[in-house]
Amino acid sequence: MVKLDNDAITKGVALITGATSGIGLGMARSFAAKGYDLAINGFGDSIEIDRICRKLETDHQVKVLYSSADMTKVSEIETFVSDTITTFGRLDVVINNAGVQYVSPVDEFPTDKWDLVISVNLTAAFHTTRLSLPQMRKQGRGRIINVASAHGLIASPNKSAYVAAKHGLVGLTKTVALEAAEFGVTCNAICPGWVKTPLVETQIETLAREHGVTQDVATKEMILQRQPTREFVQVDQIAALALFLSSDDASSITGSAYSIDGGWTAH
Ligand code: NAD
Repeated sequence: MVKLDNDAITKGVALITGATSGIGLGMARSFAAKGYDLAINGFGDSIEIDRICRKLETDHQVKVLYSSADMTKVSEIETFVSDTITTFGRLDVVINNAGVQYVSPVDEFPTDKWDLVISVNLTAAFHTTRLSLPQMRKQGRGRIINVASAHGLIASPNKSAYVAAKHGLVGLTKTVALEAAEFGVTCNAICPGWVKTPLVETQIETLAREHGVTQDVATKEMILQRQPTREFVQVDQIAALALFLSSDDASSITGSAYSIDGGWTAH
């Protein structure tokens, strides 16, 4: 029987990429609420980011290290991970969450956008993983969680780079799981359907503009019609799954891709 005893969750240090917005910020709040110290990065207004970090610290009595690392730059990722290990002396959970989207037919897809989407959504996860594993191996325990997507399992038109990156991320997840299993490290992917974050709000605005409909109509008829529940997945629901995957109860779950998509991929 699966025991969902949140008090049994081992606390430690969680590195979460892209945690200044949307799903990553929600995960940062949920992990801090469980007592994890955090290492986070992501873009945004520096005053607002500072406010977010201080609030996480005071609300939950944890430490928060912020890095301005750009996930397309290998040297900045290297510094981010090594600063995290130096600051906290350990690293328990890595959540590869930073992501970007670009929508275009494949034959018109700008090559720089292709490179960007692959770099942030896939290559960055390779770098954080290769840099974190030695520390996790030393500790004999670790959790790597890759935020993929329903698009890591199925495709949609005009999202070639994103679908390729997210399928790649699910593949990376399985390989890392096989390599890391014997030293107590698990690696899993979470595959959300639609979540109402800035990444999706931009797509809703574009669809509404291109089809000459309101954003409400675009949301109901073009976005949520794929999700049988007809509801957005909530950030807190994804964070709860990530917390479970980080717990001792999830030690036998590795190499899995968890759908949390209101039934989208059941079609
Ligand atoms: P978001 O736009 O709200 O957040 C993205 C985060 O990534 C931000 O903090 C941003 O600053 C950061 N980021 C982007 N490029 C970066 C870079 N080069 N370097 C450092 N940080 C960078 O988006 P979100 O919806 O919260 O997406 C988070 C993850 O969830 C992404 O991987 C996305 O593909 C995935 N996802 C989202 C949905 C959805 O419906 N929103 C569905 C499935 C999967």
